[in-house]
Amino acid sequence: VKILLLGKDGQVGWELQRALAPLGEVLALGHASAGEDCGDLTDTVGLARTVKRFNPEVIVNAAAYTAVDNAESEERLAFEVNAEAAALLARLAAERDALLVHYSTDYVFDGSGQAPWRETDPVGPRNVYGRSKLQGEQAIQTSGCRHLIFRTSWIYAARGANFTKTVLRLAAERDTLTMIDDQKGVPTGADLIADTTALAIRQLASGSRAHCGIYHLAAAGETSWYDYARHVLRQAQALGAPLKATDLAVQPVPSSAFPLAAVRPLNSRLNTSKLRDTFDLVMPPWQAGVDRVLTEILSK
Ligand code: NDP
Repeated sequence: VKILLLGKDGQVGWELQRALAPLGEVLALGHASAGEDCGDLTDTVGLARTVKRFNPEVIVNAAAYTAVDNAESEERLAFEVNAEAAALLARLAAERDALLVHYSTDYVFDGSGQAPWRETDPVGPRNVYGRSKLQGEQAIQTSGCRHLIFRTSWIYAARGANFTKTVLRLAAERDTLTMIDDQKGVPTGADLIADTTALAIRQLASGSRAHCGIYHLAAAGETSWYDYARHVLRQAQALGAPLKATDLAVQPVPSSAFPLAAVRPLNSRLNTSKLRDTFDLVMPPWQAGVDRVLTEILSK
């Protein structure tokens, strides 16, 4: 299988480089990739030329504008990368009957209620980032291309910027931490997302339209940022990390204590039964992946 991977240096893109390798020939491009092999999603001409030249059977788009708060003041760029580039990739995929794999977010929902969101639930993004990601999803769905869209949440990895690493840094600098306890969701490892992607591509690369569509992809269980932070610190302590703040020094606060440019949904839980049933997968508990990444980070 010929696979074009975009966004190779992001959290998910980095893990995809590893997970996609056994599937075939992978051309992995990043934001800075230019010339013959253009990986900049805002360079529509370069991107189209690259797809035409490489002629992939699968396009995996792990690139995105992910700066949620900055998106409030950079709406144009957020839509260019998350919506317009997704539409272009869908068109390019449709032209050659390639499979397009794309990622979206729990932020397409308004965060109401307590129940994990299903794929068929009504959307209602509360910030610019969520609206730009939703428009990207819709462009792919209406393009007619074979596609897989994975909506995921609270991504972490050993590489890249994420909450797990922020908690470790803050706990090394401060005696006490305050963490939001009224937003609920599921931390999901970039490695789990990449491995699930590879397994799904294996089932679809033959050209079948069966199983195309949108799926919720998250680890099992749920937590709040507060309990997530406490878990990280308990594990980090057990692994011998020198910390000023222990898990007992974390104070719970409501979202209102941390006013940010972009409003976050309170309920980010995702129901993953469609993914599990369709691809016959088991999603591991979120703690397992976090513990692995902590071991990796702290053993460096
Ligand atoms: P990252 O922010 O780690 O990686 C995104 C990558 O996209 C970066 O390498 C970035 O490069 C690149 N990028 C940004 N703009 C462009 C551009 N114009 N052209 C090409 N590349 C560009 O994202 P994640 O791996 O965490 O996210 C993967 C997917 O999952 C995304 O679709 C995201 O929207 C979605 N998602 C993420 C969540 C999270 O918690 N992070 C939660 C739910 C969904 P550079 O750094 O140079 O800008």
